[in-house]
Amino acid sequence: MALPERKTDIGPPHYKQFMPPVIVNNYGKWKYHEVLSPSAMVHVAESGDKLWTVRVASPRILATDSIREICDISDKYCDGHLRFTTRNNVEFLISDEKNLEPIQVELKEKGFLSGGIGAGISNVVHTQGWVHCHGAATDASGLVKAMMDELVDYFTTKRLPNKLRLAVACCVNMCGAVHCSDIALVAVHTKVPTIDHEKVKNMCELPTVISSCPTRAISPDPAKKSVKIKEDKCMYCGNCFTVCPPINIKDPDRDGIAIVVGGKVSSLRTNPKFSKLVIPYISNEPPRWPKVVAAVKHIVEIYAENARKHERVGEWIERIGWEDFFKLTGIEFSHQCIDDFTFMRDTLRTSPTFKW
Ligand code: SF4
Ligand code: SF4
Repeated sequence: MALPERKTDIGPPHYKQFMPPVIVNNYGKWKYHEVLSPSAMVHVAESGDKLWTVRVASPRILATDSIREICDISDKYCDGHLRFTTRNNVEFLISDEKNLEPIQVELKEKGFLSGGIGAGISNVVHTQGWVHCHGAATDASGLVKAMMDELVDYFTTKRLPNKLRLAVACCVNMCGAVHCSDIALVAVHTKVPTIDHEKVKNMCELPTVISSCPTRAISPDPAKKSVKIKEDKCMYCGNCFTVCPPINIKDPDRDGIAIVVGGKVSSLRTNPKFSKLVIPYISNEPPRWPKVVAAVKHIVEIYAENARKHERVGEWIERIGWEDFFKLTGIEFSHQCIDDFTFMRDTLRTSPTFKW
């Protein structure tokens, strides 16, 4: 066991040292919180102490200058206390009520977009996209920008029956919260990868490549000192491409976007839910993705018109039934939405597809 005085640089420092004193003093003794506006809320402790939170959007991939600016504002009004939520909203934690108004004025002057609290759309969690990841079937930041340009009113002012969480993953690895968001976009590859045997031979570890395939579609090709793919077993997941780039799955003409809906992480009222696939493919149309944006906006509007107060998207759909969701939205139910996996008992309640 490590000695108590032993110092290491392994792991992050303990979070408690970064908390505002009002949180440390009232730790575990908070009575309630109240949403004051789409951009501000207050937490009230049993002792009567209060902590105000002001939320602004972030584009997730931030310039150092923007981070410095955020830190300067936090130093000025919050004694340096701020946090990033899991969806990359920036939250300023204010212990003194007199700073609540001035910080909001300054944030507005500096061009930050306030909102995202309560029954509306908050910042969109997304993956790396074309900026950083080699496996991306679509962009992430660009797609989120196009989508939120249409939906920004739901972040700043317009209210919905309950919170609506959006997410974007630029491949089915989904290194974002796509499987459990109210509406999420997941980019899909649609073809069997091609193999550059010369490069595979020199760049890739063959046992790793073979074992990377979840459907065992890859096997050795001794004659070429490479691998081969059994096409009818491939589900275009891109795992092999991740470990071995010469097995190329990207296709600018055929890569596209699927839409899944009805997931949530919260256990409030009903259990957490996995999202379900409702639109299996929309073509990738950068830089503004008009078809994808229109489809998401349409689902948001139908939800806003039809759900009862406090119902999340998944709760609303489960009340009316998935058949009525497809009827109300006019989305065509397609065969890709059905789970036809032979051993579907293993995937019951854990797959994004429907049992038939
Ligand atoms: Fe890369 Fe896939 Fe994550 Fe996108 S979702 S950043 S392509 S691993
Ligand atoms: Fe296997 Fe996925 Fe590669 Fe297809 S794309 S060969 S299923 S790892």
